[in-house]
Amino acid sequence: MNVDVNLVEQLVKKVLDQVEGAGDLLTTAGDCGVFATMDDAINAAEIGQRQYLKRSMADRAKYVQTIRDVVLRRDVMEYISRVAVEETGMGGYEYKVIKNTLAATKTPGIEDLTTEALSGDDGLTLVEYSPFGVIGAITPTTNPTETVICNSIGMLAAGNAVVFSPHPRAKNVTLYLIKAINRALKEAGAPDNLVVTVAEPSIENTNAMMKHPKIRMLVATGGPGIVKTVLSSGKKAIGAGAGNPPVVVDETADIEKAAVDIVNGCSFDNNLPCIAEKEVIAVDSIADYLIFNMKKSGAYEIKDKALIDRLVELVTENGKKPKTDFVGKSAQYILEKVGIQVGSDVKVILMETDEQHPFVQVELMMPILPVVRVRDVDEAIDMAIRVEHGNRHTAMMHSRNVDKLTKMAKLIQTTIFVKNGPSYAGIGVGGMGYTTFTIAGPTGEGLTSAKSFARKRKCVLVGGMDVR
Ligand code: NAD
Repeated sequence: MNVDVNLVEQLVKKVLDQVEGAGDLLTTAGDCGVFATMDDAINAAEIGQRQYLKRSMADRAKYVQTIRDVVLRRDVMEYISRVAVEETGMGGYEYKVIKNTLAATKTPGIEDLTTEALSGDDGLTLVEYSPFGVIGAITPTTNPTETVICNSIGMLAAGNAVVFSPHPRAKNVTLYLIKAINRALKEAGAPDNLVVTVAEPSIENTNAMMKHPKIRMLVATGGPGIVKTVLSSGKKAIGAGAGNPPVVVDETADIEKAAVDIVNGCSFDNNLPCIAEKEVIAVDSIADYLIFNMKKSGAYEIKDKALIDRLVELVTENGKKPKTDFVGKSAQYILEKVGIQVGSDVKVILMETDEQHPFVQVELMMPILPVVRVRDVDEAIDMAIRVEHGNRHTAMMHSRNVDKLTKMAKLIQTTIFVKNGPSYAGIGVGGMGYTTFTIAGPTGEGLTSAKSFARKRKCVLVGGMDVR
């Protein structure tokens, strides 16, 4: 078996060894990019974007690189990763380092904006990606800095300015990051105020942003409520909403590897990522062996029904939604609250349930992992589709049966479908491809990148310029 159980520790070490130390921590003093009112922020961004239109593509590439570089400064990386955990009370420092690094290094830049050219008897036509103008971006508590990094790179690469509306619970870390990005952009010679926000993020300010006539596009990364709100705004909107990713394991899978992948994927940043494994659906004939191996890899099994009921009461609001106090908390922390002391080697809390159990139905965002047994792989695929709730977000499958892998991939229709790997392979950790922290299932952009934040425009030259 070739599986790296210490993946997280190794990745963090590698990342922090690679990023440059750069002297003192950037000061958060001053109001670089942070405005008293939403109106002021949007007006400043609009002026900045108009100046930005006059800059070259080489300039854009430079500013994108500037954002990558400032985030990868060792002091900035350590600060945003640590404060994100402290302020939101969610996730883990090591995971934030991996996720912030991923956003800084693997979010596509201007190369994403490819031009189409058509030439012939009637002349030359170019179809190019052109900016929207000022974009309003709403960001979640679960990935507060990752989303700002990823959106800033993609939106600026496409020629826009961006006004962020962070979750109030992630205010300090987000404001710090926006100031750091602004200061670095200023030093690189960019127009002022391409990445801005308000000093006091609030629902009122988000609403003001959504209604503001100078905001040409809205991008919401968050739960179903905010996605629905931006889609009802009457503006062009991208909605990156909730997921509830199932993982199917059939009898042909490498069960030992599947067990390690599932525990690692589910416990990544304490299950905060919207892509992380939320429930396992296992074919009966291998379910015992899978559970046995998951326990060997850091899963703690609870069999006592009364204890499972207590957990439901503890971490959910009437089995309908997760309690914020438990979102992104570790397995060790949650178990302690029901009187079970374990070490930090316990990464996931596992139990067998039926399909209707709240732990299967509700997007918990904590390392509690229900396992549901089914007779065969077809039943597993049908159940996975039901419990994904039509989010079209993310799903995983462990199998060596190409026909069944293909069947599930086609039927479940998720933006990300990971075969024989942990969920995070789908955003570029140990899997091929670029990363995004705004995965837009509801509105269909899928894995957003610079071109998602641009309009296709046609430039037609009639006659000439055809040299064939
Ligand atoms: P949330 O929906 O509570 O908040 C997201 C953002 O929307 C925040 O900035 C919040 O202030 C704002 N907001 C929420 N309700 C609002 C309202 N009525 N009016 C104005 N603003 C409002 O989500 P969260 O708890 O911060 O993040 C977790 C959710 O986000 C999960 O459902 C997760 O799956 C989803 N998510 C999705 C993606 C993706 O790419 N699809 C990425 C990260 C998180």
